[in-house]
Amino acid sequence: MSEKIIQQNPVLISTRGLTKRFGSKDVLKGIDCDIRVGEKVAVIGPSGSGKSTFLRCLNLLELPSGGVVTVDGAVLFQSDMQAKKDVLDAIKAQIKAVKSGEASPEVKAHQEEAAALKEELLHAHAELKDAATKAKLAAIKLAKKSGGVTEEDVQDAVAAREKATAVVAELKARLSAVNAKIKQKKAEAKKNVDAAELQRLNEALTQAKAEYATAKKAHNAAMRKTNAVIDEHRRNMGMVFQHFNLFNNLTVTENITLAPVSLGIKDLAAKRKELLKRKLFKHEDVTEQLAALPDKLEIIENAKTNAKRLLARVGLLDKADVFPSTLSGGQKQRIAIVRSLAMNPRVMLFDEPTSALDPEMVGEVLEVIKELADEGMTMVIVTHEMNFAKEVATRVLFVDDGLIKEDAPPADLFGNPQNDRLKEFLSKIL
Ligand code: ADP
Ligand code: MG
Repeated sequence: MSEKIIQQNPVLISTRGLTKRFGSKDVLKGIDCDIRVGEKVAVIGPSGSGKSTFLRCLNLLELPSGGVVTVDGAVLFQSDMQAKKDVLDAIKAQIKAVKSGEASPEVKAHQEEAAALKEELLHAHAELKDAATKAKLAAIKLAKKSGGVTEEDVQDAVAAREKATAVVAELKARLSAVNAKIKQKKAEAKKNVDAAELQRLNEALTQAKAEYATAKKAHNAAMRKTNAVIDEHRRNMGMVFQHFNLFNNLTVTENITLAPVSLGIKDLAAKRKELLKRKLFKHEDVTEQLAALPDKLEIIENAKTNAKRLLARVGLLDKADVFPSTLSGGQKQRIAIVRSLAMNPRVMLFDEPTSALDPEMVGEVLEVIKELADEGMTMVIVTHEMNFAKEVATRVLFVDDGLIKEDAPPADLFGNPQNDRLKEFLSKIL
């Protein structure tokens, strides 16, 4: 499909201001991204930049901390709770700083000075340690008459050590003077707290608390809803990881049919329950509908037939009844892809699908992914295979430090990178 046509396709998944925080670490810092039907989006970027987290947030394997995720235009996740919490925390910190005197500009200036001195002191300590070692060594060598060390050398080394000691002592004295200043200025500031400022902050605090409470309530309500639709959403998204995660105690076919069969049976039970309810409470005649439902065996047989068809497609039909342990890494990954496809997803998410493979097996897996792409499958693929990204992707995202720093067709992104971090990244790997 040409790029023009894809740009007119409907948006399948979209994120706005998507954030994810683990503890105090902001891993995703606000990702805005639209993935249209038929797009093949490659995601590249340094290790630890948040690529996997982004992918996992797309299918809600990981719950985002904030932002919006929509699928087919319907909001699947939305929360500004985290953002409201940040505002609240910031105001609390400000109030604390004002009350303790920390907020005074004079105190801040001295604190900066103290931080710089501490840094210097750290270096000075390291140098002193080094000089002391050298002096000791020189003395030993002189005593043993080894290493051609003279009395003068030892004196020089000792002098250097003394000098380093003096530097450390001087820095310590300066630091303690600055610390005393900080203490004094803080005490002064504490006495002269600006009442109007404090009043303003307290009002802001009240408002922030109220907004946070509202956001939290909305978030919790949304989560309950999300849990209900999340299963449906996941069914539409196949995910393939670096490590294949096949069940070793199940055959290849069992691995592939496990999810479709259990979901099929679950669906069947739900449908049957629904029909029986209608019969019981609304006195409808549902005999025909009940008879038309598949039975469990049919569901299993259908899943098996589908598994065979898919296995044939990736050239592994002869492996249908073996256990994963007998397969190579490349074969396992092709099975993992088939297992995802068996759910008939609308989009495939690949997280470094070839990174754990021996080099000679990378090709066969990429080939399968490429065929899927050619057949029109929408996909997002985190990869280090730049040639593959160039060849197959319709768009490449460069993720760095939790943000999409560049978003362009491969020819532009690789041929004419704009972002400095991207340039640096490409120069290292190409
Ligand atoms: P990438 O896939 O780009 O290498 P990840 O999304 O895996 O990066 O990780 C981004 C950052 O988030 C890393 O610093 C990682 O340590 C951190 N991280 C990922 N998952 C978790 C988690 N479950 N708990 C805490 N930190 C995590
Ligand atoms: Mg990763």
